[in-house]
Amino acid sequence: MAALHPGAVIGILGGGQLARMLSVAASRLGFRTHVYEPSPNPPAGDVAHEVTTAAYDDEAALRAFAASVDVITYEFENVPTSALDLLEAQVVIRPNRRALAVSQDRMAEKEFLSGLGLTVAPFARVTDAASMTAAVEAIGAPAILKTTRLGYDGKGQARLRAAADAEAALASMNGAEAVLEGFVTFSHEVSVIAARGLDGAVAAYDPGENVHRDGILHTTTIPARLTPGQRTDAVLIAARILNALDYVGVMGVELFVTQNGLIVNEIAPRVHNSGHWTQNGCAVDQFEQHIRAVAGWPLGDGGRHSDVVMENLIGDDILRVPDIAGERGAALHLYGKAEARPGRKMGHVNRVTKGA
Ligand code: AMP
Repeated sequence: MAALHPGAVIGILGGGQLARMLSVAASRLGFRTHVYEPSPNPPAGDVAHEVTTAAYDDEAALRAFAASVDVITYEFENVPTSALDLLEAQVVIRPNRRALAVSQDRMAEKEFLSGLGLTVAPFARVTDAASMTAAVEAIGAPAILKTTRLGYDGKGQARLRAAADAEAALASMNGAEAVLEGFVTFSHEVSVIAARGLDGAVAAYDPGENVHRDGILHTTTIPARLTPGQRTDAVLIAARILNALDYVGVMGVELFVTQNGLIVNEIAPRVHNSGHWTQNGCAVDQFEQHIRAVAGWPLGDGGRHSDVVMENLIGDDILRVPDIAGERGAALHLYGKAEARPGRKMGHVNRVTKGA
């Protein structure tokens, strides 16, 4: 497929804040977006050209959606396989199915990453009491048991301080297949947001340092504390993953920084919360970069011109907006969500602290 021209329609599966910011970036390049989202009044609905409100098993709605767009992308990795099968028969999906398959399943993800020669936490598949016992024997404690599917923001996880916690951890999975991961002693967490174009060109943003609170990303600080060697390694790891998947689009790669180097925690085949700083730190942010890639355009300049601290505004944090709005160097990005529930991402602020 040749590069899309202005006026072309980019279909986005999912209508949350990521789709909202993708839609804004797409419209800046002259594209239109059509958002497909099961729940009514999604954040992306305010800015998308068209919205389909339908379930992922509504075949007629999926077909009509596919017929109305020139390319399909997505803002979350858990799109049901049956919906993807149907859509892919009509229109190209970027990033591709392999990227989704690998990131939808923690076991497949770990096998893929370690198969590339990258370092991941020791891991073992857990499906029942016997495999749990074997996994604890092989990996030891402390460890973390994670569901292989549908985990996010620390959900679907149980920590084992000692082997004696195994039974309770397994019970908390409610029968879902899981992966036991050895606990990594890391000094801090970083992520690399990287993009790969249709022509195979790869561009990575400067790595950011992430701090979580209650399992949810709290801040991303750029530049991250990394040696020049670690910074190069982080970018090379991301490039390796993108090339191996023949990936087109933006990806988030989360890494643990340890005394023995970088360990890959997980990958997200989409724009990523820890890449929101690029909106005010770079000429071309992650949202535009993703749109460029899926539209078959050349990647843009992702070089960093400023230091940035991104802070997520979660739940009642939204009440601080009037104060933040008066701060020097603070760029607000709000998602238009009416109700501020605890743990709900309402917006973020990028504090631009100085020139890079
Ligand atoms: P995840 O959902 O896999 O991103 O995990 C959420 C958070 O739990 C991570 O950001 C880490 O802070 C922590 N965590 C996850 N896996 C490990 C591990 N193997 N060792 C230590 N901490 C971990």
